[in-house]
Amino acid sequence: MTSSLNGFTGRPRKDPGFVSAGQAMRQSETAARFASSDPSYQQAAQARAREANARIFSASSGADSATYGQGYRTSASGAAILSYGSTTDGSFSFNPEKLEAIPEVERRWSWVEIDLNAIRFNASMVKSRLSPGTRLMAVVKADGYGHGAVQCAKTALNSGAEYLGVATVDEAIELREARVFAPILVLAEPPMSAIPLLLGYKIMPAIYSPEFAISYAEAADAIGCRAPFHLAVNTGMNRIGVRYDEVVPFMQQVGFHRALELVGTFTHYATADCAETLDFQIQTRHFIEAVNALRQAGFNPGIVHAANSAAAIRYPDVQFDMVRLGISLYGYYPCPEAFTLIELKPAMRVKARITDTRLVPMSEGVSYGLHYRSPGSVKICTLPIGYGDGLRRGLSSKIDFLCGGARVRQVGNICMDQCMFEVDMRSFGTRQRIDPQIGDVVTIIGEEGDAAVTVEAMCEVLGTIPHEVTIGLGNSRMPRLYR
Ligand SMILES: *Cc1c(COP(=O)(O)O)cnc(C)c1O
Repeated sequence: MTSSLNGFTGRPRKDPGFVSAGQAMRQSETAARFASSDPSYQQAAQARAREANARIFSASSGADSATYGQGYRTSASGAAILSYGSTTDGSFSFNPEKLEAIPEVERRWSWVEIDLNAIRFNASMVKSRLSPGTRLMAVVKADGYGHGAVQCAKTALNSGAEYLGVATVDEAIELREARVFAPILVLAEPPMSAIPLLLGYKIMPAIYSPEFAISYAEAADAIGCRAPFHLAVNTGMNRIGVRYDEVVPFMQQVGFHRALELVGTFTHYATADCAETLDFQIQTRHFIEAVNALRQAGFNPGIVHAANSAAAIRYPDVQFDMVRLGISLYGYYPCPEAFTLIELKPAMRVKARITDTRLVPMSEGVSYGLHYRSPGSVKICTLPIGYGDGLRRGLSSKIDFLCGGARVRQVGNICMDQCMFEVDMRSFGTRQRIDPQIGDVVTIIGEEGDAAVTVEAMCEVLGTIPHEVTIGLGNSRMPRLYR
């Protein structure tokens, strides 16, 4: 810049520290933008960062994804950072837009990849098993089980789903604000104070209390619109809903209201994913009784639905008018019984790059507690992912990762932000030997060649269901990348 010369005379300034009014304004504008986080400005930069993320992601999901090596690290940082700054008056100042545009996967080397084609595949796979006319509800609560509610909802709606299910009013509003216009059901009764939001955003609640039904109807009536809802029926899970033998009195109590519109009647199974089936059959019988009683009393139950993923896959006779597909939309088997019944493709992959490596001499320990002791001839590699990212501490020393197509053992306690794995450096027989380097990509969930590390394997170790694992990893600090 010409800060040491007078802009009019071209002569050296008398006062070298002098800042012209124009210069001061330009500087303060940059500072103000930086501080105020001007949304349009930040959005443009973030959009560029997302594009860059996606570019890096598609490059890294190629065949040689695991072999970036040392070169990757040097090319990604170092001299390049200088181009992110510009100087005024000899002092260094960063260009905030360029700082913003540094992709998240270059800020920390761990990320979640979401394959929307897998979601498409799973939705059509389930849809093809439904009788014609049976609807598919895509359940996208908890940010699409960690896969991103908006992206997954749009994908599912393009692949045969007609309805969306969420847990909260805010989850429904997020979809509406992303211009998703399909019917949305909140799967539980929200607080009464949220009624204006339901009407304003055209979101349907599940209802089971007369107070809520009447308030909702009156609020709708006051502005001259309908109050559509689904009636939740408790058939045995004892979580929410009107008891199956009390649905007729309930509807008689609230049904007089002209604005109320019973659009659907549903229940939820407690044991659809359990080996034992008797309780399941009892719930089904109670539900059919409730629906028949409504009809006999002159109430049209609307869309009748009961099945979650497990029930939709295992029991075709409870599909009724709609099935509510959650976990299997994302490609996970709700229970071992489902493995042989349907083909699903998991939509989530979790990856990280190695941030450090070392040869640990025999008997030295690794990680908190030093519970793991080196047997010698091992390379210990560190990844920037831990229980703060949903990689549960209970998995410590009990899971494998994939590195260069080979299975490697996670060792030592998983830390909050990092964890380690072991690579056997001995060469014997025909064993495939790998020598991972800093920057190499490691698969935490996903497949490399014939080898796979799965959500289901983590569930086995943790004694939990895939829902909890994908939500923990997907809704974490890690960026989500889509393809
Ligand atoms: C979450 C939920 C579902 C989806 O269950 P999955 O096991 O994920 O398929 C269906 N119905 C209700 C009421 C739910 O709360």
